[in-house]
Amino acid sequence: MEDKMNSADDKIRQPEVSDVKVRQTEIPGKRAAGKESKNEKSRQAGISGKRAAKNGTKKETKKERNARVGRILELLDGEYGLELRCALIHETGWQLLFSTILSAQCTDKRVNIVTETLYRKYPSIEAFANADFDELKEDIRSIGFYQAKARNLIKCANQLMYEFGGEVPSEIEELTKLAGVGRKTANVIRGNIYNIPSIVVDTHVKRISRLLGLTDTDDPEKAEYELMEILPEDHWILWNIDIITLGRNICVAGRPRCSECFLKEECPHYNERIQKL
Ligand code: SF4
Repeated sequence: MEDKMNSADDKIRQPEVSDVKVRQTEIPGKRAAGKESKNEKSRQAGISGKRAAKNGTKKETKKERNARVGRILELLDGEYGLELRCALIHETGWQLLFSTILSAQCTDKRVNIVTETLYRKYPSIEAFANADFDELKEDIRSIGFYQAKARNLIKCANQLMYEFGGEVPSEIEELTKLAGVGRKTANVIRGNIYNIPSIVVDTHVKRISRLLGLTDTDDPEKAEYELMEILPEDHWILWNIDIITLGRNICVAGRPRCSECFLKEECPHYNERIQKL
């Protein structure tokens, strides 16, 4: 991919992790910590959390749930590794921000196709701030909701230029002031650009966290806080990344392939279904 950095981009605060299209950051000692957590929590619980997960009628205690969470994380680590993968191709913080805005109600694949030429045509925040609305609208037409998204991109670029000194902010209160940016997008930026532990609750995360018995709310913000209570901080960013992968490949909405799922032994939804057979 071409180098899209320019003078306006240089003003963007540089994240600690490298801002490349696929991140390969490892969280030091995470796997070891996970194992320790599993063994310790299982020992403390003095009971197989798996048994609790299998018992659809018995309410799982907090200790049992924590032990089960430890095993779920270990299974996810083993299956998907520790790499902080980002499906939206980007080379700068503002590109990830704009790609995430564009990805609402659209596939990452489609967004990547469009942004490959879009970021060549508009190589900076300033270029988006000065973009012609009708022209930009046509440039992103295939993405869907293109009118609202074009309007948001221009407004967001102007906010970044004139309210945030050409930088993508890292605070959630500031990020959510930007046009087209809600809590979910803000957490994507915090996690992927600034490496700040954050849980992105999208449709996959909300649905699968419920199936796994880790939350019971439909409200994304409540789910985010509940998951923050349950998951260790060093897995907050990975939770979204891994659960989206699981949701696309195995735990597909409406037709989960439970028999193939490496989490089935720890999944109340699966074990309740087995019990009913
Ligand atoms: S066992 Fe089934 S419901 Fe549970 S996470 Fe796996 S695919 Fe989803």
